[in-house]
Amino acid sequence: MTAENRLREQICLLARSLFERGLTHGSSGNISARTPDGGLLVSPTGSCFGRLDPARLSRFDAELRHVGGDRPTKEMPLHTAFYDTRRAAGAVVHLHSCHSVALSMLPDVDPDNFLPPLTPYAVMQLGKVRLLPIFRPGDPAMGKAVRGLAGKRSAVMLANHGPVVAGKDVEAACNAIEELEATARLALLTRGLNPRMLDAAQVRDLVTTFNVEWDE
Ligand code: ZN
Repeated sequence: MTAENRLREQICLLARSLFERGLTHGSSGNISARTPDGGLLVSPTGSCFGRLDPARLSRFDAELRHVGGDRPTKEMPLHTAFYDTRRAAGAVVHLHSCHSVALSMLPDVDPDNFLPPLTPYAVMQLGKVRLLPIFRPGDPAMGKAVRGLAGKRSAVMLANHGPVVAGKDVEAACNAIEELEATARLALLTRGLNPRMLDAAQVRDLVTTFNVEWDE
């Protein structure tokens, strides 16, 4: 099997796993990954994460020309904004995951640091997550907002919509977006219960020890 075909299989396998665990539903969510030749594989528009077909993923060449497969997700500008601003990005995943969407609707979340510092892994895998405003789905302004972050964030939360996370490869991006959703769930579970969070020194220790991107 070629490296590209392995990547196609991996995208569909991980997407199905996310779907089967209820992390996105219906035809929501989209995923993309860099191919070995510098192109992109992208989930098709209107496709369901539970039933992606490896052979029908949208294929783009290194100049971002659509060269095969079905038509891509309408959120392409969101994906290309990450690839253009983060050279190390090898994959981008977007979900409509319930708990992170719920948390994005609450009045007192910090837009610059959407997730409270509840667990070390959220800090290590996501850095600070920026909460972006409400956009119409497919609005190119979403991509512009991500470009405005100048590559300093690997994870953003689209308010009332869902998270978008870039990683070095498909597995890393999926792991990180799962961490985001799990942390949002913890935030909701412990909300109003005065949970003990990581303090500033503990966050700082993680940031320096694990070389986390953490722009102040
Ligand atoms: Zn969406």
